[in-house]
Amino acid sequence: MFLSTALGTRPNPKDEDVVTQENPVLVVGAGPVGLSAAIALRSLGLPVAVLEADPEDQARPGSRALFVHRESLRLLDSGAPGLAAELTDFGVVWHTKRTLYRGREVFAKTYPKPAANSEAPFTSLRQVDTERFLRKTCEQVGAIVYWGTRVEQVRVDPTGVDVVTGDGQTFSGSHVIAADGARSTVRRAVGITMSGGRSEGFHTTVDIADPDFPQERLFHYHHPALGGRHVMTVPFAGGFQIDVQCAPTDTEAEFSTPQAVRRWLPKVVDGRHLENVLWISSYRFNQVIADRFADPHGRVLLAGEAAHLFPPLGARGMNSGIADAFDAADAIALARSANNPIREAAAIVGYADRRRAAALRNNAAVSQALAHLRPQQWHASARQRAAAALSPVVPRFGTWLENATYGPRTAPKQSGRY
Ligand SMILES: Cc1cc2nc3c(=O)[nH]c(=O)nc-3n(C[C@H](O)[C@H](O)[C@H](O)COP(=O)(O)OP(=O)(O)OC[C@H]3O[C@@H](n4cnc5c(N)ncnc54)[C@H](O)[C@@H]3O)c2cc1C
Repeated sequence: MFLSTALGTRPNPKDEDVVTQENPVLVVGAGPVGLSAAIALRSLGLPVAVLEADPEDQARPGSRALFVHRESLRLLDSGAPGLAAELTDFGVVWHTKRTLYRGREVFAKTYPKPAANSEAPFTSLRQVDTERFLRKTCEQVGAIVYWGTRVEQVRVDPTGVDVVTGDGQTFSGSHVIAADGARSTVRRAVGITMSGGRSEGFHTTVDIADPDFPQERLFHYHHPALGGRHVMTVPFAGGFQIDVQCAPTDTEAEFSTPQAVRRWLPKVVDGRHLENVLWISSYRFNQVIADRFADPHGRVLLAGEAAHLFPPLGARGMNSGIADAFDAADAIALARSANNPIREAAAIVGYADRRRAAALRNNAAVSQALAHLRPQQWHASARQRAAAALSPVVPRFGTWLENATYGPRTAPKQSGRY
């Protein structure tokens, strides 16, 4: 199949870029997962076209995924050597973690700073910044992004895929990586359903610019100044994020509007920060997973939030999406070189099975963290109270309170992929 499109109307890229691309892999969505997939595909020598609904200069929403795991940095660096260093040079690593329970410290640990030139354990930067680095890398590695190009229809057959955009153009390719987010058009077009649900309640998140914010991540159980709600502050490059777990009876009007933030924020951090608010959002927790991660022809592979939605506990959203992206690229490269329909199919089924299993693992870990943060039974809350009370004499209880907020680690050692 050849990429065939009415090129004259495209604001980008140049006509000759497109016509020289034979049988590309199409990536739908230029969020962090689509951009990572494009980098991974280029590193395997495959032609790629990324189709993104938004225009290039569309403002992207706030911090969202701050935390880039070591495993994601390794993957990104395998696709574009030097990219991990760019991200970690820009991002921050906090060396201190503290946990408070009703105003009293129950855990504090300061890690030694890693030696110069050693691998960063993680990096923290706003998702907009991560995407900026990924976009630049895509340009450098020759991954073409078609901005303002919304995919509306998908036609799949055993030999390839056509996608039709809102303005009537058809792009053809060998495979599609659907990285078009939670409301994925591609997933719906190929009839893949999702299972799961949404939990009660919401969180409010506020990003604040402050280059001098202490490099310390703080989790406060039952903050006394906020009526016993949990509050977390997380540093990122150039500032920090405050996350409040609102109570089931709270409304967004009470917590998530600029006026509401003016009321509550000075109760938990210095009121001067009100002058430097960058972004306010509220979000509800979805836990849904696609029932299959590839279409029956093995031509459309779901990745990132098109395939799974988790609450952000343990930072599994974007990080597991990056793992999907690299695995999908590997599987497509294998399928394209197989020259044998059985092995071709096996490569894609392998992807779908591995990444769905990873999503189930991540979901189970998030459920464990959620059960801890929103205990439904009196004895679970009592256990936490007792752990807080005993932590000065039995430090491992404080460590438990610290670790339980993000659930167990789920990246299997052998693959290192979330
Ligand atoms: C408040 C909040 C905090 C979070 N914190 C974390 C965290 O700490 N760690 C973490 O790992 N994750 C976190 N996440 C999750 C993280 O933001 C997402 O996992 C991540 O954005 C998913 O990336 P994606 O590329 O799959 O989807 P998206 O970022 O949604 O990108 C999808 C792209 O596809 C485009 N698109 C959609 N439809 C079409 C179409 N029909 N045609 C073409 N293009 C289309 C969209 O315009 C968009 O650019 C958080 C999310 C929120 C909301």
